[in-house]
Amino acid sequence: MATNNPWHQAKKQLDKTAAHINLDPLTHAYLAEPERVIEVHLPLRKDNGEVITFKGYRVQHNSHKGPYKGGLRFHPEVSMDEVKALAFWMTMKTALVDIPFGGGKGGITIDPKTLTEPELERLTRLFIKRLAHAIGPDKDIPAPDVNTNAKIMSWIVDEYSKHVGKKTPAVVTGKPIGKGGSQGRTEATGLGGAYVLIDLVKRMGLSPKDLTVAVQGFGNVGYYVAYFLQQQGFKVVALSDSKGGIYIPNGVAPIEQIQKCKEEKGYLAGCYCVGSVCDIRYKKKVNGKDISPSEILTLPVDIIVPSALNTVITEKNARDIQAKIILEMANGPTTTEADEILEKRNITVIPDILANAGGVAVSYFEWYQNIHDEKWSKEDVFAKLKTKMLKATDAVWKTMHEYHTSMRDAAYITALNKFGKKKK
Ligand code: NAD
Repeated sequence: MATNNPWHQAKKQLDKTAAHINLDPLTHAYLAEPERVIEVHLPLRKDNGEVITFKGYRVQHNSHKGPYKGGLRFHPEVSMDEVKALAFWMTMKTALVDIPFGGGKGGITIDPKTLTEPELERLTRLFIKRLAHAIGPDKDIPAPDVNTNAKIMSWIVDEYSKHVGKKTPAVVTGKPIGKGGSQGRTEATGLGGAYVLIDLVKRMGLSPKDLTVAVQGFGNVGYYVAYFLQQQGFKVVALSDSKGGIYIPNGVAPIEQIQKCKEEKGYLAGCYCVGSVCDIRYKKKVNGKDISPSEILTLPVDIIVPSALNTVITEKNARDIQAKIILEMANGPTTTEADEILEKRNITVIPDILANAGGVAVSYFEWYQNIHDEKWSKEDVFAKLKTKMLKATDAVWKTMHEYHTSMRDAAYITALNKFGKKKK
């Protein structure tokens, strides 16, 4: 029976790849469950005096290669199973791009838009008080994910530093630059995905200028991947966020201009631009069309780039996808059932553990700079990121041809092979 539970999906992928490469049963068993799960209750007194209790999670999936590493997500759909899946994917990702970290993830089941900033800060600080015993620069290093950002990371550094009695910026990555953050971390995930896509389209004999792109999600990852792809000559024709989106077959306005429009209005829908002005009244003039957040995935484009939440490509819409390439910038956007349909339809899926690994790669650079008291320039960070992403892409490409598998299976094989022994 099809299940869209991300943890069940993740385990299915693990079992499938383990069987493919005869993975040692003990290694398989280690990876099949997290090493530790933490669930905390977080009572919050709101500004109006009302008390609400939220649930928070941290899953420490695997530390075979180093401290647990993975983001914190604040979203109403966060659950233990979602966090377990996200933590497992981090273990795979850090192995694939060869960085000395394991996999972890965490989150709070909350819509942060319902809280004031002081409420959000109190909630984050309480969460960190509860987790302080389990995290740290050599134990477990959180980072931003959906609805968390550099400011939230700086509250975490402050709270954790109080707990250990000394300033400890290396406890999280994705900090503001002035508080120990790395140059280039904000752009890293989107830029890393762009490096991977540019390399792969070249290997497929395609040219960016002939390819149209639709990006779902316009947060940190969606914005930068759209920005860098547009810069590299891809024709970005559609964008969406949680409230809706725009589709302009001739290509959307410069991404920075659309971001400015979104900032002014609070949402992306209606950002049709003529000259320096963006407004819904220009829709007809630019031959634009309003689209829903999910409609973007089935538009007649060459490449779709899910960059929002997991489980958005399922057996319900996989047959309707018209794109020939899917660049998975979100974690876990495609179910295993949808994957089978896409494979039969010869649609190339560039898997999340490769496509979005740029974020954790630069997180590693940030942590390294903190530990060694170094400061690298943005050019240096981008150059190192490019080397890492291209090396991982090359490894996946070669594995795909050696094993005659999908690119997702190849990425998992490449990652799992780093865990050592095979069954005799
Ligand atoms: P974010 O909070 O900055 O942005 C999320 C975006 O998705 C927002 O624009 C939101 O409006 C949009 N969105 C939410 N629901 C939507 C829907 N149903 N349809 C369309 N858009 C929707 O988060 P982010 O950091 O950009 O993360 C996005 C994805 O990338 C997540 O899956 C995350 O796990 C993954 N990821 C993030 C990083 C990172 O460095 N931030 C690294 C690797 C992977």
